[in-house]
Amino acid sequence: MHSSTKAIHLGNFEEANGAIAMPIVLSTTFERGEDQLSFPSGYLYSRNDNPNRNALEQKISMLEEGAESIAFSSGMSATLAVFQSLGAGSHIILPDDMYYAGKNILQRLYAQWNISFSEVDMSNLEAVKNAILPNTKLIWIETPSNPMLKITDIEGIAKIAKARNILTVCDNTWATPYFQKPLVMGIDISMNATTKYLAGHSDILGGALTFKEKNNTSEFIKDFQRLGGAVPSPFDCWLLCRSISTFHARMPIHANNAMILAEYLTKHPKIEKVIYPGLSNNKYHEIAKNQMIGGFGGMMSVLVKGGQKEALNLVSKMKIFKHATSLGGVESLIEHRKSVEGIHSNSPENLLRISVGIEDVRDLIEDFGD
Ligand code: PLP
Repeated sequence: MHSSTKAIHLGNFEEANGAIAMPIVLSTTFERGEDQLSFPSGYLYSRNDNPNRNALEQKISMLEEGAESIAFSSGMSATLAVFQSLGAGSHIILPDDMYYAGKNILQRLYAQWNISFSEVDMSNLEAVKNAILPNTKLIWIETPSNPMLKITDIEGIAKIAKARNILTVCDNTWATPYFQKPLVMGIDISMNATTKYLAGHSDILGGALTFKEKNNTSEFIKDFQRLGGAVPSPFDCWLLCRSISTFHARMPIHANNAMILAEYLTKHPKIEKVIYPGLSNNKYHEIAKNQMIGGFGGMMSVLVKGGQKEALNLVSKMKIFKHATSLGGVESLIEHRKSVEGIHSNSPENLLRISVGIEDVRDLIEDFGD
């Protein structure tokens, strides 16, 4: 069975009445067996496990080609679970263009655990090697990165880390398992903010960690999920399962639209630069072509000629693109990134981040005007 078929059917369970759509199991607790000791349904209490969460975790694990997936209530709670598994005194190597809230977690919540980090240009493997310290426990990559769409050589990072027994995580939120398989390329954990493309409709928060193999780290994180309790609700899991059933239909449209729009915008009189790894003149095009499968995703950034004022002016005239944060939904969004990232943002003031939806691309082009 192929992955688009499994995305629809894998993990589904049925009601006795023959309903085709999976039910939502809202019950928080499950009855014991006649021996008063066993749990014949396999379920005990829904913080530990729930049939909808179980179905979701099977689907995500299948998409990422992993051994096990662990679902959380947001991308950041999944990220937190990884940091939590490292232990006090650890050192982490992060991308210099990481999703800003990930770095904020370490700066604001982990100082008291003596966890330190170095921000490195992940497209430079020598710089990554040079940043490794005796207490480096984790190399975190994000490719394409948010919002500069830097591309990291995934296999190169996996090799460096493996030789030194360092855990690797790839934030696969932007590429998604449709266009990129970090685990197949040697990364230990693939992280998805399922809030984005896996949900696909801007109506669920969620996160998932998928493990290349089951080991002590995956066991710790499973415990962290069950005991810490930052779990997605059965309804969110159900919605995500429904979204995943159309994942393979949506993703190529996002990427095709993005490619066409990127090419159009390179000639737009108000745009100084289009940052999209699918463009043949993009700095990272060759490496992206080598490791992304069948497309470059639906995210891009553009630098508007002028500064913040001109960027905001361009956005203010748009009708289809909504000026809002987040990404990965069927509807197109555009965002002035610097003003959401806060005072430590490295984003240029004329940068607009674009999440290309699955509308008719002719309407998206028209919305930019000329
Ligand atoms: N990783 C990336 C690349 C993101 O873009 C985001 C959110 O925008 C996250 C992680 C965090 O996900 P969430 O908002 O579900 O916590």
